[in-house]
Amino acid sequence: MTRYFCEYAWLEGDHATREVLIETSGDRIVDVTAGLPSPKDAIALPGLTLPGFVNSHSHVFHRTIRGRTQGDAASFWSWRDTMYAVAGRLDPDSLYGLARATYAEMALAGITCVGEFHYLHHGPGGVSYEDPNAMSHAITSAANDAGVRITLLDTCYLQSDIDGGETEGVQRRFDDGGWDAWSTRLSSLKTSATVKAAAAIHSVRAVPRHAMKPITDYARSRAMPLHVHLSEQPAENQACQSTHGTSPTTLLSEEGVLGPSTTAVHATHLDKADIHLLGSSSTSVSMCVTTERDLADGIGPAVSLAQAGSPLCVGSDAHMVIDLLEEVRGVELNQRLISGRRGHLSVGVLARTLTEHGSRSLGWDAGEIAKGRLADLVTIRLDSPRTAGARLADPLTHVIFAATNADVSHTIVGGDVVVEDGSHRAIENVGAELERAIADLLT
Ligand SMILES: [Zn+2]
Repeated sequence: MTRYFCEYAWLEGDHATREVLIETSGDRIVDVTAGLPSPKDAIALPGLTLPGFVNSHSHVFHRTIRGRTQGDAASFWSWRDTMYAVAGRLDPDSLYGLARATYAEMALAGITCVGEFHYLHHGPGGVSYEDPNAMSHAITSAANDAGVRITLLDTCYLQSDIDGGETEGVQRRFDDGGWDAWSTRLSSLKTSATVKAAAAIHSVRAVPRHAMKPITDYARSRAMPLHVHLSEQPAENQACQSTHGTSPTTLLSEEGVLGPSTTAVHATHLDKADIHLLGSSSTSVSMCVTTERDLADGIGPAVSLAQAGSPLCVGSDAHMVIDLLEEVRGVELNQRLISGRRGHLSVGVLARTLTEHGSRSLGWDAGEIAKGRLADLVTIRLDSPRTAGARLADPLTHVIFAATNADVSHTIVGGDVVVEDGSHRAIENVGAELERAIADLLT
Protein backbone atom coordinates (compact mmCIF):
# COMPACT_ATOMS: atom_id res chain seq x y z
CA MET A 1 0.00 0.00 0.00
CA THR A 2 1.31 3.45 -0.93
CA ARG A 3 -0.25 6.66 0.37
CA TYR A 4 -0.10 10.04 -1.31
CA PHE A 5 -1.16 13.15 0.54
CA CYS A 6 -2.22 15.82 -1.96
CA GLU A 7 -2.27 19.47 -0.96
CA TYR A 8 -5.14 19.79 -3.46
CA ALA A 9 -6.77 17.21 -5.73
CA TRP A 10 -9.45 17.46 -8.39
CA LEU A 11 -12.08 14.86 -7.52
CA GLU A 12 -15.15 16.14 -9.38
CA GLY A 13 -17.00 19.28 -10.45
CA ASP A 14 -15.43 22.66 -11.09
CA HIS A 15 -13.21 23.00 -8.02
CA ALA A 16 -10.20 21.43 -6.33
CA THR A 17 -10.51 19.77 -2.90
CA ARG A 18 -7.98 20.48 -0.13
CA GLU A 19 -5.95 17.80 1.67
CA VAL A 20 -6.80 14.58 -0.11
CA LEU A 21 -5.30 11.22 0.83
CA ILE A 22 -5.02 8.77 -2.09
CA GLU A 23 -4.18 5.18 -1.15
CA THR A 24 -2.95 2.79 -3.83
CA SER A 25 -2.21 -0.90 -3.96
CA GLY A 26 -0.59 -2.46 -7.02
CA ASP A 27 -1.73 -0.38 -9.99
CA ARG A 28 -5.08 0.72 -8.49
CA ILE A 29 -6.49 3.40 -6.21
CA VAL A 30 -7.99 1.62 -3.19
CA ASP A 31 -9.24 4.60 -1.18
CA VAL A 32 -9.67 8.36 -1.38
CA THR A 33 -10.41 10.53 1.67
CA ALA A 34 -10.49 14.29 2.11
CA GLY A 35 -10.03 16.60 5.06
CA LEU A 36 -7.99 14.36 7.37
CA PRO A 37 -4.45 15.17 8.59
CA SER A 38 -1.60 13.56 6.65
CA PRO A 39 -0.53 10.14 7.97
CA LYS A 40 3.18 10.00 8.85
CA ASP A 41 4.04 7.48 6.12
CA ALA A 42 2.33 9.35 3.25
CA ILE A 43 4.28 10.78 0.32
CA ALA A 44 3.55 14.51 0.11
CA LEU A 45 2.38 15.87 -3.23
CA PRO A 46 2.40 19.66 -2.89
CA GLY A 47 0.34 21.37 -5.60
CA LEU A 48 -2.76 20.21 -7.45
CA THR A 49 -3.11 16.50 -8.27
CA LEU A 50 -5.36 15.39 -11.12
CA PRO A 51 -5.93 12.08 -12.87
CA GLY A 52 -3.12 11.56 -15.39
CA PHE A 53 -3.52 13.45 -18.65
CA VAL A 54 -4.56 11.29 -21.60
CA ASN A 55 -3.15 11.98 -25.04
CA SER A 56 -5.79 10.44 -27.26
CA HIS A 57 -4.09 11.09 -30.61
CA SER A 58 -0.37 10.78 -31.34
CA HIS A 59 1.76 10.16 -34.41
CA VAL A 60 5.01 9.74 -32.56
CA PHE A 61 7.36 10.06 -35.54
CA HIS A 62 6.02 13.52 -36.37
CA ARG A 63 8.09 14.74 -33.40
CA THR A 64 11.06 14.68 -35.81
CA ILE A 65 9.76 17.56 -37.91
CA ARG A 66 8.81 19.95 -35.12
CA GLY A 67 10.11 23.38 -36.08
CA ARG A 68 11.01 22.34 -39.61
CA THR A 69 7.88 23.35 -41.52
CA GLN A 70 6.21 25.86 -39.25
CA GLY A 71 8.00 29.03 -40.28
CA ASP A 72 6.92 29.03 -43.90
CA ALA A 73 3.71 29.02 -45.88
CA ALA A 74 3.70 25.30 -46.64
CA SER A 75 0.19 23.89 -46.96
CA PHE A 76 -1.16 20.82 -45.18
CA TRP A 77 -0.26 18.78 -48.25
CA SER A 78 3.35 20.01 -48.54
CA TRP A 79 3.73 19.47 -44.78
CA ARG A 80 2.58 15.92 -45.46
CA ASP A 81 5.40 15.49 -48.02
CA THR A 82 7.98 16.42 -45.35
CA MET A 83 6.36 14.01 -42.90
CA TYR A 84 6.37 11.22 -45.50
CA ALA A 85 10.12 11.73 -46.08
CA VAL A 86 10.76 10.91 -42.41
CA ALA A 87 8.34 7.97 -42.54
CA GLY A 88 10.38 6.58 -45.42
CA ARG A 89 13.57 6.48 -43.31
CA LEU A 90 12.29 4.86 -40.13
CA ASP A 91 13.06 1.29 -39.14
CA PRO A 92 12.20 -0.53 -35.89
CA ASP A 93 15.42 0.59 -34.12
CA SER A 94 15.20 4.27 -35.04
CA LEU A 95 11.46 4.28 -34.32
CA TYR A 96 12.13 2.78 -30.88
CA GLY A 97 14.72 5.47 -30.05
CA LEU A 98 12.52 8.33 -31.21
CA ALA A 99 9.39 6.94 -29.55
CA ARG A 100 11.10 6.26 -26.21
CA ALA A 101 12.36 9.85 -26.03
CA THR A 102 9.07 11.33 -27.22
CA TYR A 103 7.01 9.31 -24.74
CA ALA A 104 9.44 10.42 -22.03
CA GLU A 105 8.71 14.01 -23.13
CA MET A 106 5.02 13.13 -22.70
CA ALA A 107 5.60 11.72 -19.20
CA LEU A 108 7.36 14.98 -18.26
CA ALA A 109 4.24 16.80 -19.53
CA GLY A 110 2.01 14.80 -17.16
CA ILE A 111 0.73 12.36 -19.78
CA THR A 112 0.11 8.91 -18.30
CA CYS A 113 -1.58 7.30 -21.31
CA VAL A 114 -1.17 7.75 -25.05
CA GLY A 115 -3.17 6.58 -28.05
CA GLU A 116 -0.68 5.96 -30.85
CA PHE A 117 -2.41 6.14 -34.23
CA HIS A 118 0.07 3.88 -35.95
CA TYR A 119 0.15 3.11 -39.66
CA LEU A 120 3.87 2.70 -40.47
CA HIS A 121 3.63 -1.08 -40.38
CA HIS A 122 6.03 -2.51 -42.97
CA GLY A 123 9.56 -2.16 -44.34
CA PRO A 124 10.59 -0.21 -47.44
CA GLY A 125 8.44 -1.03 -50.46
CA GLY A 126 5.82 -2.56 -48.19
CA VAL A 127 7.84 -5.71 -47.51
CA SER A 128 6.81 -7.22 -44.20
CA TYR A 129 9.40 -7.48 -41.41
CA GLU A 130 10.19 -10.94 -40.03
CA ASP A 131 7.99 -9.99 -37.10
CA PRO A 132 5.06 -8.40 -38.97
CA ASN A 133 4.45 -6.23 -35.88
CA ALA A 134 8.11 -5.15 -35.55
CA MET A 135 7.20 -1.46 -35.84
CA SER A 136 4.25 -1.76 -33.42
CA HIS A 137 6.41 -3.62 -30.92
CA ALA A 138 9.11 -0.93 -31.20
CA ILE A 139 6.43 1.59 -30.21
CA THR A 140 4.94 -0.41 -27.34
CA SER A 141 8.42 -1.23 -25.94
CA ALA A 142 9.28 2.47 -26.13
CA ALA A 143 6.14 3.43 -24.20
CA ASN A 144 6.89 0.76 -21.63
CA ASP A 145 10.48 1.97 -21.17
CA ALA A 146 9.33 5.59 -20.91
CA GLY A 147 6.77 4.55 -18.25
CA VAL A 148 3.65 5.55 -20.20
CA ARG A 149 0.51 3.46 -20.69
CA ILE A 150 -0.33 2.98 -24.38
CA THR A 151 -3.23 2.01 -26.61
CA LEU A 152 -1.72 1.01 -29.95
CA LEU A 153 -4.33 2.11 -32.46
CA ASP A 154 -3.31 -0.20 -35.26
CA THR A 155 -4.40 1.64 -38.34
CA CYS A 156 -5.80 0.13 -41.50
CA TYR A 157 -4.59 2.02 -44.58
CA LEU A 158 -5.35 0.45 -47.96
CA GLN A 159 -5.56 3.07 -50.72
CA SER A 160 -3.99 6.33 -51.84
CA ASP A 161 -7.20 8.19 -52.63
CA ILE A 162 -10.93 7.90 -52.10
CA ASP A 163 -11.44 6.42 -55.56
CA GLY A 164 -9.42 3.34 -54.62
CA GLY A 165 -6.04 4.26 -56.12
CA GLU A 166 -3.21 1.92 -55.12
CA THR A 167 -0.85 3.04 -52.38
CA GLU A 168 2.40 4.39 -53.76
CA GLY A 169 5.84 5.43 -52.52
CA VAL A 170 6.10 5.48 -48.73
CA GLN A 171 2.39 4.65 -48.44
CA ARG A 172 3.34 1.07 -49.41
CA ARG A 173 4.71 0.79 -45.88
CA PHE A 174 1.25 1.56 -44.47
CA ASP A 175 -0.65 -0.96 -46.60
CA ASP A 176 -1.48 -4.51 -45.42
CA GLY A 177 -3.13 -5.33 -48.76
CA GLY A 178 -6.61 -5.90 -47.30
CA TRP A 179 -8.60 -5.52 -44.10
CA ASP A 180 -8.33 -9.28 -43.42
CA ALA A 181 -4.51 -9.22 -43.57
CA TRP A 182 -4.58 -6.11 -41.34
CA SER A 183 -6.74 -7.94 -38.78
CA THR A 184 -4.55 -11.06 -38.87
CA ARG A 185 -1.46 -8.95 -38.15
CA LEU A 186 -3.22 -7.01 -35.39
CA SER A 187 -4.39 -10.27 -33.76
CA SER A 188 -0.75 -11.20 -33.07
CA LEU A 189 0.17 -7.90 -31.39
CA LYS A 190 1.60 -8.44 -27.89
CA THR A 191 -0.30 -6.69 -25.10
CA SER A 192 0.29 -6.33 -21.35
CA ALA A 193 -1.05 -4.60 -18.26
CA THR A 194 0.03 -1.26 -19.77
CA VAL A 195 -0.29 -2.03 -23.50
CA LYS A 196 -3.69 -2.34 -25.15
CA ALA A 197 -4.37 -3.18 -28.80
CA ALA A 198 -7.04 -1.25 -30.66
CA ALA A 199 -8.19 -0.54 -34.19
CA ALA A 200 -8.22 2.48 -36.46
CA ILE A 201 -9.58 3.34 -39.87
CA HIS A 202 -7.10 5.87 -41.22
CA SER A 203 -9.80 7.95 -42.95
CA VAL A 204 -12.58 7.67 -45.50
CA ARG A 205 -9.86 8.46 -48.04
CA ALA A 206 -7.44 5.63 -47.17
CA VAL A 207 -9.92 2.81 -46.41
CA PRO A 208 -12.48 1.64 -48.98
CA ARG A 209 -16.13 1.73 -48.01
CA HIS A 210 -16.54 -2.06 -48.18
CA ALA A 211 -13.79 -2.57 -45.53
CA MET A 212 -15.31 -0.24 -42.93
CA LYS A 213 -17.93 -2.62 -41.55
CA PRO A 214 -15.58 -5.65 -41.24
CA ILE A 215 -13.00 -3.49 -39.44
CA THR A 216 -15.72 -2.20 -37.10
CA ASP A 217 -17.04 -5.72 -36.45
CA TYR A 218 -13.50 -6.91 -35.71
CA ALA A 219 -12.99 -4.13 -33.15
CA ARG A 220 -16.42 -4.47 -31.53
CA SER A 221 -16.20 -8.25 -31.18
CA ARG A 222 -12.98 -7.79 -29.20
CA ALA A 223 -14.19 -4.77 -27.19
CA MET A 224 -11.44 -2.69 -28.81
CA PRO A 225 -11.65 1.07 -29.19
CA LEU A 226 -11.93 2.20 -32.82
CA HIS A 227 -10.52 5.54 -34.01
CA VAL A 228 -10.82 7.35 -37.34
CA HIS A 229 -9.55 10.65 -38.77
CA LEU A 230 -12.60 12.68 -39.78
CA SER A 231 -13.05 15.83 -41.87
CA GLU A 232 -9.76 17.50 -40.98
CA GLN A 233 -9.64 19.22 -44.37
CA PRO A 234 -12.46 20.53 -46.61
CA ALA A 235 -10.84 18.58 -49.49
CA GLU A 236 -11.74 15.30 -47.74
CA ASN A 237 -15.40 16.35 -47.55
CA GLN A 238 -15.46 17.36 -51.21
CA ALA A 239 -13.85 14.10 -52.36
CA CYS A 240 -16.29 12.04 -50.26
CA GLN A 241 -19.25 13.99 -51.62
CA SER A 242 -18.18 13.43 -55.23
CA THR A 243 -17.34 9.72 -54.79
CA HIS A 244 -19.98 8.53 -52.32
CA GLY A 245 -22.52 11.36 -52.46
CA THR A 246 -22.36 11.87 -48.70
CA SER A 247 -20.29 13.61 -46.06
CA PRO A 248 -17.55 11.51 -44.42
CA THR A 249 -19.58 11.43 -41.17
CA THR A 250 -22.69 10.12 -42.96
CA LEU A 251 -20.58 7.49 -44.71
CA LEU A 252 -19.14 6.29 -41.38
CA SER A 253 -22.63 6.28 -39.88
CA GLU A 254 -24.07 4.26 -42.77
CA GLU A 255 -21.28 1.68 -42.39
CA GLY A 256 -21.92 1.34 -38.64
CA VAL A 257 -18.59 2.84 -37.60
CA LEU A 258 -19.96 5.44 -35.15
CA GLY A 259 -20.76 4.53 -31.54
CA PRO A 260 -19.64 4.88 -27.91
CA SER A 261 -16.40 2.93 -28.44
CA THR A 262 -15.49 5.00 -31.52
CA THR A 263 -13.47 8.22 -31.55
CA ALA A 264 -13.49 10.65 -34.45
CA VAL A 265 -10.25 12.60 -34.63
CA HIS A 266 -10.39 16.32 -35.58
CA ALA A 267 -14.06 16.51 -36.74
CA THR A 268 -13.28 20.02 -37.91
CA HIS A 269 -15.50 20.60 -40.96
CA LEU A 270 -18.98 19.35 -40.02
CA ASP A 271 -22.53 20.39 -40.80
CA LYS A 272 -25.50 20.13 -38.43
CA ALA A 273 -26.44 16.64 -39.61
CA ASP A 274 -22.86 15.42 -39.01
CA ILE A 275 -22.87 16.85 -35.48
CA HIS A 276 -26.18 15.13 -34.76
CA LEU A 277 -24.88 11.76 -36.04
CA LEU A 278 -21.73 11.97 -33.91
CA GLY A 279 -23.48 13.23 -30.76
CA SER A 280 -26.51 10.94 -30.88
CA SER A 281 -24.24 7.89 -31.30
CA SER A 282 -22.07 9.04 -28.31
CA THR A 283 -19.02 8.95 -30.56
CA SER A 284 -16.05 10.60 -28.82
CA VAL A 285 -14.25 13.43 -30.58
CA SER A 286 -10.51 13.96 -30.21
CA MET A 287 -9.61 17.59 -30.75
CA CYS A 288 -5.97 18.35 -31.57
CA VAL A 289 -6.02 22.11 -31.29
CA THR A 290 -2.31 22.90 -31.51
CA THR A 291 -1.93 20.79 -34.65
CA GLU A 292 -5.17 22.03 -36.21
CA ARG A 293 -4.12 25.65 -35.78
CA ASP A 294 -0.57 24.97 -36.96
CA LEU A 295 -1.82 23.30 -40.16
CA ALA A 296 -4.52 25.95 -40.69
CA ASP A 297 -7.18 23.21 -40.59
CA GLY A 298 -9.85 25.35 -38.98
CA ILE A 299 -11.79 25.31 -35.70
CA GLY A 300 -14.09 22.36 -35.04
CA PRO A 301 -17.57 22.78 -33.49
CA ALA A 302 -16.51 21.62 -30.02
CA VAL A 303 -19.43 23.09 -28.08
CA SER A 304 -22.09 21.83 -30.49
CA LEU A 305 -20.53 18.37 -30.42
CA ALA A 306 -20.42 18.31 -26.61
CA GLN A 307 -24.04 19.50 -26.41
CA ALA A 308 -25.09 16.86 -28.93
CA GLY A 309 -23.59 14.07 -26.78
CA SER A 310 -20.00 13.57 -27.94
CA PRO A 311 -17.45 13.39 -25.10
CA LEU A 312 -14.47 15.54 -26.08
CA CYS A 313 -10.87 14.48 -25.55
CA VAL A 314 -7.55 15.95 -26.69
CA GLY A 315 -4.42 14.86 -28.52
CA SER A 316 -1.06 16.39 -29.37
CA ASP A 317 -1.23 14.69 -32.79
CA ALA A 318 1.76 16.00 -34.80
CA HIS A 319 3.55 17.21 -31.64
CA MET A 320 4.20 20.81 -32.63
CA VAL A 321 4.11 21.05 -28.85
CA ILE A 322 3.37 18.36 -26.27
CA ASP A 323 1.31 20.21 -23.70
CA LEU A 324 -2.21 18.93 -23.09
CA LEU A 325 -3.08 21.91 -20.89
CA GLU A 326 -2.53 24.07 -23.97
CA GLU A 327 -4.69 21.68 -26.02
CA VAL A 328 -7.59 21.67 -23.59
CA ARG A 329 -7.78 25.40 -22.95
CA GLY A 330 -7.51 25.86 -26.72
CA VAL A 331 -10.77 23.94 -27.13
CA GLU A 332 -12.60 26.54 -25.04
CA LEU A 333 -10.62 29.61 -26.12
CA ASN A 334 -11.10 28.88 -29.84
CA GLN A 335 -14.87 28.84 -29.29
CA ARG A 336 -14.60 32.24 -27.62
CA LEU A 337 -12.78 33.62 -30.66
CA ILE A 338 -15.37 32.44 -33.15
CA SER A 339 -18.45 33.22 -31.02
CA GLY A 340 -17.49 36.49 -29.32
CA ARG A 341 -18.65 34.95 -26.03
CA ARG A 342 -16.87 33.38 -23.02
CA GLY A 343 -17.65 30.42 -20.79
CA HIS A 344 -18.78 27.63 -23.14
CA LEU A 345 -17.30 24.57 -21.44
CA SER A 346 -16.99 24.58 -17.65
CA VAL A 347 -13.63 24.02 -15.98
CA GLY A 348 -14.87 20.63 -14.77
CA VAL A 349 -15.76 19.59 -18.33
CA LEU A 350 -12.33 20.74 -19.52
CA ALA A 351 -10.68 18.69 -16.75
CA ARG A 352 -12.70 15.62 -17.83
CA THR A 353 -11.69 16.31 -21.45
CA LEU A 354 -8.08 16.12 -20.31
CA THR A 355 -8.52 12.92 -18.31
CA GLU A 356 -11.66 10.78 -18.05
CA HIS A 357 -12.91 11.23 -21.62
CA GLY A 358 -9.51 10.37 -23.10
CA SER A 359 -9.25 7.33 -20.89
CA ARG A 360 -12.65 6.12 -22.11
CA SER A 361 -11.64 6.79 -25.72
CA LEU A 362 -8.55 4.61 -25.30
CA GLY A 363 -10.32 1.84 -23.37
CA TRP A 364 -8.74 2.22 -19.91
CA ASP A 365 -10.32 2.21 -16.47
CA ALA A 366 -8.52 5.40 -15.42
CA GLY A 367 -9.19 9.13 -15.64
CA GLU A 368 -10.75 9.67 -12.20
CA ILE A 369 -9.31 9.87 -8.71
CA ALA A 370 -11.70 7.30 -7.31
CA LYS A 371 -11.61 3.94 -5.55
CA GLY A 372 -11.01 1.08 -7.99
CA ARG A 373 -9.57 3.18 -10.82
CA LEU A 374 -6.04 2.79 -12.15
CA ALA A 375 -3.57 4.86 -10.11
CA ASP A 376 -2.58 7.27 -12.91
CA LEU A 377 -1.95 10.72 -11.47
CA VAL A 378 -0.28 14.02 -12.28
CA THR A 379 0.70 16.78 -9.86
CA ILE A 380 1.05 20.41 -10.95
CA ARG A 381 3.24 22.78 -8.93
CA LEU A 382 1.46 25.85 -7.62
CA ASP A 383 4.63 27.86 -6.88
CA SER A 384 6.01 28.45 -10.38
CA PRO A 385 5.97 31.87 -12.08
CA ARG A 386 2.91 30.69 -14.03
CA THR A 387 0.99 29.14 -11.16
CA ALA A 388 1.88 31.49 -8.29
CA GLY A 389 -1.38 32.87 -6.87
CA ALA A 390 -3.39 29.73 -7.65
CA ARG A 391 -3.82 28.96 -3.95
CA LEU A 392 -5.44 32.36 -3.43
CA ALA A 393 -8.25 31.61 -5.90
CA ASP A 394 -9.37 28.32 -7.41
CA PRO A 395 -6.34 26.15 -8.24
CA LEU A 396 -8.24 24.09 -10.85
CA THR A 397 -9.25 27.09 -12.95
CA HIS A 398 -5.81 28.63 -12.60
CA VAL A 399 -4.07 25.42 -13.72
CA ILE A 400 -6.40 24.76 -16.67
CA PHE A 401 -6.00 28.30 -18.03
CA ALA A 402 -2.41 29.20 -17.11
CA ALA A 403 -0.21 26.20 -16.24
CA THR A 404 2.03 24.51 -18.80
CA ASN A 405 3.90 21.22 -19.16
CA ALA A 406 6.82 22.89 -17.30
CA ASP A 407 4.73 22.93 -14.12
CA VAL A 408 4.37 19.14 -13.88
CA SER A 409 6.17 17.90 -10.77
CA HIS A 410 4.99 14.27 -10.53
CA THR A 411 3.63 11.76 -13.01
CA ILE A 412 2.44 8.45 -11.58
CA VAL A 413 1.41 5.57 -13.85
CA GLY A 414 -0.25 2.49 -12.37
CA GLY A 415 1.10 3.43 -8.94
CA ASP A 416 4.70 3.83 -10.19
CA VAL A 417 6.34 7.24 -9.91
CA VAL A 418 7.65 7.93 -13.42
CA VAL A 419 8.41 11.64 -13.01
CA GLU A 420 9.54 13.01 -9.64
CA ASP A 421 10.10 16.71 -8.96
CA GLY A 422 10.07 17.38 -12.69
CA SER A 423 12.68 14.75 -13.61
CA HIS A 424 12.14 11.47 -15.43
CA ARG A 425 13.30 8.69 -13.09
CA ALA A 426 14.43 6.23 -15.80
CA ILE A 427 15.65 8.59 -18.53
CA GLU A 428 18.12 11.10 -17.14
CA ASN A 429 18.30 13.55 -20.04
CA VAL A 430 15.18 13.43 -22.20
CA GLY A 431 16.25 16.43 -24.28
CA ALA A 432 19.57 14.79 -25.20
CA GLU A 433 17.82 11.53 -26.14
CA LEU A 434 15.41 13.42 -28.37
CA GLU A 435 18.27 15.34 -29.99
CA ARG A 436 20.14 12.12 -30.78
CA ALA A 437 17.04 10.33 -32.11
CA ILE A 438 16.10 13.25 -34.36
CA ALA A 439 19.68 13.73 -35.62
CA ASP A 440 19.84 10.04 -36.54
CA LEU A 441 16.77 10.42 -38.72
CA LEU A 442 17.64 13.69 -40.39
CA THR A 443 21.30 13.08 -41.24
ZN1 LIG B 1 -3.70 12.13 -36.99
